[in-house]
Amino acid sequence: MNDSFSRRALPPILPTSMRFLCLLFSLLIGSSAFAQSNSQSGTPRFDGHSWWNYVEILADDNMEGRNTGSEGLKRAEAYIVEQLQADRLQPAGTDGYYQPVKLISRRTLEADSSLALFRDGKSELLSFEKDAYFSNRFSQAPKVDAPLVFVGWGLDIPEKGYNDLQGLDLKGKVAVVLYGGSPSEIPGPLSAHYNDIKQRWAALKKAGAIGIIAILNPHSMDIPWDRLKMLRTQVGMAPADETLDDTAGIELGVAFNPASADKLFAGSGHTFQEISDLAKARKPLPRFPLKVEIRARAKVDVQHLESSNVVAKLEGSDPELKKDCVVMSAHIDHLGIGEPINGDKIYNGAMDNGSGSAMLLDFARSFKENLPTFKRSVILLWITGEEKGLLGSRYFAEYPTVPASSIVANINTDMFLPIIPLQVVTVYGISESDLGEWAAKMAKQHGIEAQGDPKPQRNSFIRSDQYNFIRKGVPAVAMAVGCKLDTPQQKVIDEWLQNHYHAPSDDTHQPVNLETAGKFEGLVLDLLAFTANSEKAPDWKPDSFFKRFVQH
Ligand SMILES: [Zn+2]
Repeated sequence: MNDSFSRRALPPILPTSMRFLCLLFSLLIGSSAFAQSNSQSGTPRFDGHSWWNYVEILADDNMEGRNTGSEGLKRAEAYIVEQLQADRLQPAGTDGYYQPVKLISRRTLEADSSLALFRDGKSELLSFEKDAYFSNRFSQAPKVDAPLVFVGWGLDIPEKGYNDLQGLDLKGKVAVVLYGGSPSEIPGPLSAHYNDIKQRWAALKKAGAIGIIAILNPHSMDIPWDRLKMLRTQVGMAPADETLDDTAGIELGVAFNPASADKLFAGSGHTFQEISDLAKARKPLPRFPLKVEIRARAKVDVQHLESSNVVAKLEGSDPELKKDCVVMSAHIDHLGIGEPINGDKIYNGAMDNGSGSAMLLDFARSFKENLPTFKRSVILLWITGEEKGLLGSRYFAEYPTVPASSIVANINTDMFLPIIPLQVVTVYGISESDLGEWAAKMAKQHGIEAQGDPKPQRNSFIRSDQYNFIRKGVPAVAMAVGCKLDTPQQKVIDEWLQNHYHAPSDDTHQPVNLETAGKFEGLVLDLLAFTANSEKAPDWKPDSFFKRFVQH
């Protein structure tokens, strides 16, 4: 931990007299509605230390990387519940603070499985380490022998009259897709939505395809293949309730190393270099049948398990508005114990997402010490199964523990990365709703610049739990410490993603910037307070693509 930035701006717990002075001061200088709402709620300031203490507990080796369904995650959640009891927050799960979620896990038994390409009567075995592996996220049929068709980006986007599947015969075949991204003509939110596996699989299934081989887009991969191949042995999970399984019916789901992709293109008249160059320029891609077939044999070990979301409630103060709930969420699960890197096999998940989970605990603590009077009720939600495909939030959104219609907003934070000075905050969904607009205004008041997703091709808006709220029509944002592209700060973030994202080194021995963490917490809490106190609940922008999900 790098402590050089931990200069305390204000003590986290102010004596009452000082709090009064702060209130007076902010009333005097705060001319806008935002500042007044801030001071009304008396939101406390954070110095990063209390946050870091929670991160150290949640990311301790004793929590064993908090894998979904593991004893380690249960210990972390028991700790959270203990704190909530002490902080006198109401339980709002189905079993006290807990909302159990039934899941199944899948693991391909590689010793009894194989992937091969078949051409001209000959079969070429693929290496799980070097070429391609079964993705444990999907159910796999024991045997798939099928022709392959390259479907480019593999996107079907009716809003843009764009369809990569059009005119191709996919019946009974496996679609080979360049996975992750879209041509530049597709706006970010639309691209994010249709990159989601639910939409992808629905379109492919409709076209008659039986499976997907995903060549990972080398221009949008966060994790290099050498590390991905180590993560492949992680169990995959799905909801036990099949109606919530977005990939039900898929017979083959394979991830393919872009460096080996020419094995698929041989004889087709195309090379992967050609595809990759077009992808880099975000142009439409050619689509054509391949000259090879896939021969897949899969043996999958399936287990049943249970893991819980943790839900707490701070009741609102307004007799009418308290029926509304603003959900503040962070996923608590991480990857557990896996392939060792540099002798370390515990994937502690300090930033992913010990950081966000700790922030919620810090909020809970601050509520006790400096009880805010939010007009709306606030739900603090620690989510399980995020790393396994947003499973806990999918379940909560489907079976909320408060009336579905009462949920008016979701603010999510996943891996907010306080590893650089806080000058810019990235607000995923900034232009989509009032909530995005409020986040930007609030940031401005904090002297921080707000930006939308600087790398829309990473599809971050759909890659964390907010997406399940969005799909239910709830305006949502996700927030993280940000930076401008092509700056030294960007380098720090990119380097972190390359080396520490989903690696055992995302632990409590890495440097963090406590001042940034504290300021970020203050900003998010102010947005939460503003949303909880606003006369009007946030709405989607009239032209937002996501407005369509609003349920009437
Ligand atoms: Zn993660």
